[in-house]
Amino acid sequence: MTGKRTGFGLAAAGAALLLLGIAGCGGGTDFGSVSSETAAARGENMTLAVATDLHALSGRLTDRGEAFETYVRAGDGKQLNYSEELIDAFTEQIAAEHPDVLILSGDLTNNGERKSHEDLAAKLHKVEQAGTSVYVIPGNHDLLNPWARGFEGGRQYRTESVTEQEFVEIYGEYGYDEAASRDKASLSYLVKPSGDLWLLMLDTSKYADNAKLGHPETDGELKASTLKWIADCGRQAEEAGVRIIPVMHHNLTDHSEVVQEGFTLNNAAEAADVFAQFRMTPSLSGHIHIQHIAQTEANGRVLYDIVTGAQSVSPNRYGLLTYDAAAHTLNYEARQTDVEGWAKRTGSTDPNLLHFREYSRGFFAGFGYEMAFKRLIVDETYTSEQVQAMAKTMADVNVSYFAGTQRQDRAAIEASEGYRLWMESEDPFTKRYVQSILGTENEPDPLSLTTEFELPPR
Ligand code: FE
Ligand code: MN
Repeated sequence: MTGKRTGFGLAAAGAALLLLGIAGCGGGTDFGSVSSETAAARGENMTLAVATDLHALSGRLTDRGEAFETYVRAGDGKQLNYSEELIDAFTEQIAAEHPDVLILSGDLTNNGERKSHEDLAAKLHKVEQAGTSVYVIPGNHDLLNPWARGFEGGRQYRTESVTEQEFVEIYGEYGYDEAASRDKASLSYLVKPSGDLWLLMLDTSKYADNAKLGHPETDGELKASTLKWIADCGRQAEEAGVRIIPVMHHNLTDHSEVVQEGFTLNNAAEAADVFAQFRMTPSLSGHIHIQHIAQTEANGRVLYDIVTGAQSVSPNRYGLLTYDAAAHTLNYEARQTDVEGWAKRTGSTDPNLLHFREYSRGFFAGFGYEMAFKRLIVDETYTSEQVQAMAKTMADVNVSYFAGTQRQDRAAIEASEGYRLWMESEDPFTKRYVQSILGTENEPDPLSLTTEFELPPR
């Protein structure tokens, strides 16, 4: 992208002054207003939940009619038809578990609808009331999105999205009002939820040209001035003997052999360089919707990038980070939203909600199945039984990929008739796709990671 980004601060004089007042990590002055009841002191253990790609769609924007059903079926597998229920179940679960922090790493909404942002923000309130500090950043779908739509009967209609200023207002209590520092060039900010661990919430999305383009841009980057600000924050953390965890919507490194473009940060090498310089690892990201953990190297340091699967896609992942101050370790573990438990508690009579694991798995598997089926049925190489077997294997492969459960699923998939047919097929792309997703037995577990978390000397 060559277009110049509209300066956030320039759009409104009042906002500009406020930003200039609090931006800049290097000053050494702590403007942070970390709420005392949730902040962990130095040397204290803490827990941080992380979720991404919630893609909330407000119930006020759909009548669940024909246009909506068509839209959901034509999509990429997001469980938009149960968006409200899923987010209720998720936020209630987090409130009950009350970790110290909940991080939401972008794509908070389906397509940046103002009503979706407002309703999500209201639901996050009960998480904060339970004693959890919520911190959000926008993803590529969340701001100035020309695709914002509502659904009524047989038609879609345009609905309002949000500007940067509106985003900051809506999510003020979920990061922006608590920031110890804010970047002048983006919606990135620093928060200090603990005496040992700070969070750099980095806005990597490119939305300034969305209106002109007529669509949201998928790829992401960190601006040169933002990279400088990150380094300032890193220096301040080193001086304070604190470690920083960076959070981005886009990925720090490639998480797939087959899909990378638009997912990995455009200037990932520059980001890795500054992260490594200030031991900012692991980083947390989203956007690609799969559950995966990758590593890269910069300045002789290994950097982990943990991608949590999309909350809006089966099996509705979130992650839990546990910091053990005495052992100097940080543990990550992938979890699942318990929609079934929520449905039972709330007295739902909807069988899909009461058996949500099975229902949502089937819903998502259907997308992979359809894709493969349509592709195979046009050429007459295979019998209809073979087409069905191959489509089923493709569906299972996709489910496994997004869930991050290749270790558990590999043997059964490799033993299937569909797998044998794919491996013998004349289609080298699909064969490679299936193989790269399943990986090998030696691959690291996408569901958990324990890393050292030694603090810089104080
Ligand atoms: Fe997304
Ligand atoms: Mn995204």
